[in-house]
Amino acid sequence: MMSFDECPPFDESYDYVKKSVERTSRWAERGLKAHANPDRQGLFGIIQGAGFEDLRRQSAHDLLSMDFPGYSIGGLSVGESKAEMNRVLEFTTPLIPEHKPRYLMGVGAADSLIDGVIRGVDMFDCVLPTRIARNGTCMTSKGRLVVKNAQYARDFRPIDENCDCYTCKNYSRAYVRHLIKADETFGLRLTSYHNLHFLLNLMKQVRQAIMDDNLLEFRQHFFEEYGFNKENAKNF
Ligand SMILES: [Zn+2]
Repeated sequence: MMSFDECPPFDESYDYVKKSVERTSRWAERGLKAHANPDRQGLFGIIQGAGFEDLRRQSAHDLLSMDFPGYSIGGLSVGESKAEMNRVLEFTTPLIPEHKPRYLMGVGAADSLIDGVIRGVDMFDCVLPTRIARNGTCMTSKGRLVVKNAQYARDFRPIDENCDCYTCKNYSRAYVRHLIKADETFGLRLTSYHNLHFLLNLMKQVRQAIMDDNLLEFRQHFFEEYGFNKENAKNF
């Protein structure tokens, strides 16, 4: 479970973020003391500091002195660019010892997951795959597919031809679209299931690429297929 923290806007002023980091450290200390049950769940400290390197260092220094079982990187994926997020990860992730789990909060876009892992992140969670699924949007190996669009009304291919999930093995784009258009919640369950399967399968491939020592080649190949930087992938 997570410490109580403050997550300021990414473009907040230095002075505000400094006070906010100090407040988050005080809360973390109080939370840790209150969390003294021996069979407790692992309590993570959350490193804040927006885009300021010295404040991220201060936050990590404060929290590391409390020796949490794991560490979260908060205050990212709050509207800053992907380049900014990667810049902050590059100086923040190395502050966390390798034997502690490193968790990047609120990141669920396929390209950001891969870029986070490359910068040392172990864990993620995010509402993105199910939130966009409930809006009729699917993550696929070729980028975003808005299955409720009219162009899929007579498209009898699966949502993702490279996916072996229950949805893709059993239902067509046309049928899923029909369900969503008819306000049948089963359609949203099918898109949610597909998106979760897509991300779990992606991370399985990432783990394999790490073991095969070719993560950067994997990234290159994935991004080419996925259309990263192309218009249809901009919201991921
Ligand atoms: Zn699928």
